[in-house]
Amino acid sequence: MPPEDEQPLCSFDAHWLRQSFVWANAARIRGNRPFGAIIVTADGRILAEAFSNTQETGDSTGHAEMNAVRQIGTARLPADVIAAATLYSSAEPCAMCASAICSAGVRRVVYGLDWQRLQHIRPDLRPIHLSCHDIFASATEPVECAGPCLVDEALAVYEDSWLSAADNASSSNTDL
Ligand SMILES: [Zn+2]
Repeated sequence: MPPEDEQPLCSFDAHWLRQSFVWANAARIRGNRPFGAIIVTADGRILAEAFSNTQETGDSTGHAEMNAVRQIGTARLPADVIAAATLYSSAEPCAMCASAICSAGVRRVVYGLDWQRLQHIRPDLRPIHLSCHDIFASATEPVECAGPCLVDEALAVYEDSWLSAADNASSSNTDL
């Protein structure tokens, strides 16, 4: 299956998606997989900022999107605030994260690199082959989803960090 076409973004979305790339790089610097996520209100208020911390915690559910969703949950934000926010993720949410996003009540997602392109770099990853678009389409409440976006910039985050022998040597198969 060919990679999905890149989708255009407005300057607001592009700005916040790039912030998820910043968090992805922060994850990598700390020895984690290079994934970042941020949740932002429509008027630009940050509700959550997170990165994948699976490597430093040993918790295989510590994906960036999961950690971001946990932040808005523990903050006990009003449902209408969450529903009006957008989650920006440096890469396409996996099945676990997409389901958590639905459960949390987030209704809009923008992501950078899609899994088809990511698998060219790391074909050993992703234990469940389900598109986040399919999961969001099956959600009880609709979730708008844009991606892949800013593909060249998103790809640079992963190419730089995942082509190193050190990262490959310390990797397990399925936790991101
Ligand atoms: Zn995930």
